[in-house]
Amino acid sequence: MFVEPIKILIVDDEAKNLTVLESLLDNTEYQLIRAQTADEALLALVQHEFALLILDVYMPDMSGFELAKMIKMRKKTSSIPIIFLTAYFNESQHVLEGYGTGAVDYLHKPINPTILRSKVEIFAELFRHKRQLEKSNAALVAEISQRQAMECELRELNDHLEQRVTQRTEELVQADRRKDEFLATLAHELRNPLAPVRNAIHILNDRLPPQEELRWAGEVIDRQVRHMIRLVDDLMDMSRINQGKIELKREPVTIQQIVQLAVESCTPLIEECGQTLRVVQPEQLLMLNADVTRLTQIVLNLINNAAKFSKPGNEIVIEVEHAERAVSVCVRDQGIGIPREKLNLIFEMFAQVEATLERTRGGLGIGLSLAKRLVELHGGSIRADSPGLGLGSSFTIELPLDSERAVPEDKPHSPMALDSITVKRILIVDDNEDAARTLSMLLGCIGHETFLAFDGAAALEMAGRTQPDIILLDIGLPKMNGYDVAKSIRQEAWGQSMVLIAMTGWGQEQDRERAHAAGFDHHTTKPVEISYLLGLIDKAPSAVECASRP
Ligand code: ADP
Repeated sequence: MFVEPIKILIVDDEAKNLTVLESLLDNTEYQLIRAQTADEALLALVQHEFALLILDVYMPDMSGFELAKMIKMRKKTSSIPIIFLTAYFNESQHVLEGYGTGAVDYLHKPINPTILRSKVEIFAELFRHKRQLEKSNAALVAEISQRQAMECELRELNDHLEQRVTQRTEELVQADRRKDEFLATLAHELRNPLAPVRNAIHILNDRLPPQEELRWAGEVIDRQVRHMIRLVDDLMDMSRINQGKIELKREPVTIQQIVQLAVESCTPLIEECGQTLRVVQPEQLLMLNADVTRLTQIVLNLINNAAKFSKPGNEIVIEVEHAERAVSVCVRDQGIGIPREKLNLIFEMFAQVEATLERTRGGLGIGLSLAKRLVELHGGSIRADSPGLGLGSSFTIELPLDSERAVPEDKPHSPMALDSITVKRILIVDDNEDAARTLSMLLGCIGHETFLAFDGAAALEMAGRTQPDIILLDIGLPKMNGYDVAKSIRQEAWGQSMVLIAMTGWGQEQDRERAHAAGFDHHTTKPVEISYLLGLIDKAPSAVECASRP
């Protein structure tokens, strides 16, 4: 490897002295540059980078010390070490001390070659170190600036990435919102035609001659429509939950009541599937503060799944256990089981373990995700366990107990009290004519007198003309909406004591409040549960009972 020789400036007015120095320092590692005057020396200092100056103190044009002073004062050359060659010791040696930078040394003439060489070698070594350090330093500076450039580039990339992520997230949030809105609208729109279908089935069931095939066909339609309503309701609930619009109607209830309601609803299905159901629960009644309909729906959903994914002859067990301040309900089956890696996935919306296989069993893959969200709204949790495919599954819900409350009386179910009916005059208003007509026929079958209107203006006119006991009023109506119809009716003397029941697709708290503010007595969501509606109709005073009306 080529090593650049170390340059040494030798300054003496006598050429022979310079030659002596050259012969003393004859070494390939050194390159000696000669100067016989101060000017030559200064010129050389401008042209080369020196490791050392060897300077004769006495020169005719300028003393060695004066030249040294000039060298020390120039920034570029101030740190070059100087060896002075003097004939004898002189006070002026200290002149340079004030300049501080760079080493200064002295050699007395006649020069001792060994001392000269060793001093020169020390300075040469110092210079080599300095050069090495400068190199490393330069490499370090280069590396630092390269790193800074990379960091800068990385920061820019990062900023760009963050921007993209924010943008994508926003797009996804928007898409998700649109999907929820679409699902809500879809469910809402699917629900509307179901109401008249269900009413028509009630009428058919009531009127059909006792022919077995017709009865069976009626039951099939009834069962399938109920199933469809349940799916649509699930879809609607899911989108409501996603939009943060669901409200629990909590009330005191025991877990035993919930289990009983669910078991009652699913018994026909279990029998149809040729399976058996066993309930194991403690005798002590365990109190919850829960939404009875929702919680029953969750347990029912788990039992339905257990039946759906099991074979005839299999047993389904519902086990209720009392834990500290909580209760757990476990629904266990001996069915197809769930692979371990899918256990959490099935709680995701639309998730099904093996879509192609499950398609034959029906379902939207909403039930469990809805169950999870609803259980969480109750402050509880749900988990799935399965030893593996073909080895059955179990689903466990845990809910907080509400030990403060007293155990409520068993609520009687609301059967349609057909024989104890008081005839009412009922105006039905709905722009879905099928819905209005079938409901009218249904109420007619029971014995009530009904009137029909299909828009807001007609409703108001009909209400004034017929002065019914009850008005079942749709909200979204042509010509005049249901709220305005209700308000106008309440302004009339004849409209004071009528019972106004709103029927809407949207059952949110603000919809209820708006309905009550407009003068409605009750608010129901479509498709209206017939037994619930009959309960409301039953409770309403009739013209016969109400002396203030003609
Ligand atoms: P689906 O309407 O498809 O039944 P769920 O959300 O209720 O929707 O269930 C999601 C999936 O979880 C099902 O499609 C099925 O693959 C799996 N699953 C649910 N319950 C059981 C069970 N008891 N045994 C085996 N697999 C089940």
